[in-house]
Amino acid sequence: MSNGQSIKVVDAFDLDDELRSLLKPGEMMRDGQGRRHRLPRYFYEIPNHEAAVNIRLSNHFGLNEFTLVDLKEAPRLQQFPRYVPCAVRVLAFYLEQFRREVGASVHIAVNGAYRSPSHRLSQTATPHMWATAADIYRIGASILKGKETIEKYNGIAEDLSDDIHILPYGHVTGLNADDHVHIDLGYITVIPREISEDRMEVPQENRPRFAFEERRRKERRTNGAEPTET
Ligand SMILES: [Zn+2]
Repeated sequence: MSNGQSIKVVDAFDLDDELRSLLKPGEMMRDGQGRRHRLPRYFYEIPNHEAAVNIRLSNHFGLNEFTLVDLKEAPRLQQFPRYVPCAVRVLAFYLEQFRREVGASVHIAVNGAYRSPSHRLSQTATPHMWATAADIYRIGASILKGKETIEKYNGIAEDLSDDIHILPYGHVTGLNADDHVHIDLGYITVIPREISEDRMEVPQENRPRFAFEERRRKERRTNGAEPTET
């Protein structure tokens, strides 16, 4: 981190069953065009509200700005410790460049940065689930409404880097884009340097979702008749 603070990195396969079933690490998800993407596995763990407010990802962007959600997010994911994919720091870096270019503060909307796969707006895969997208609703004192304003800032974002993708004014995927600028970097997955990739894990799609399901399964096996191999 820019100020030397370190955030704990977790492998989401090590989290409890409920968190894994909400974050879906390593699971495949289709985007609006039917292309499949593998959901992120490594997350920053934000222990409490103070950390969320104090930890900065770049000079002008605090971690908390990327985790603003309302009731559309799963209740468990609104409780601390909270989790955000490690690619969020790449997004913060690009937003910092965008901020310099526009010469004013850049404000991210509620539900406008990281949205888990369990978020109500997460119908199909979008970079928001990788923490590599931001919906900006205000720049300096200017509230982003109207074709002209949004297209102006879309143009500035696109000129900044070929890595940046915007959504044209009036797009209709999930959110009304007439009141924000959507900036994304695509499906970037960050594997932090402290991670060793020797552990293979199977996504939960094929496994019991919750501990109680596992217990019930075991009970059935012990109480019921042993299935005969045929
Ligand atoms: Zn967006």
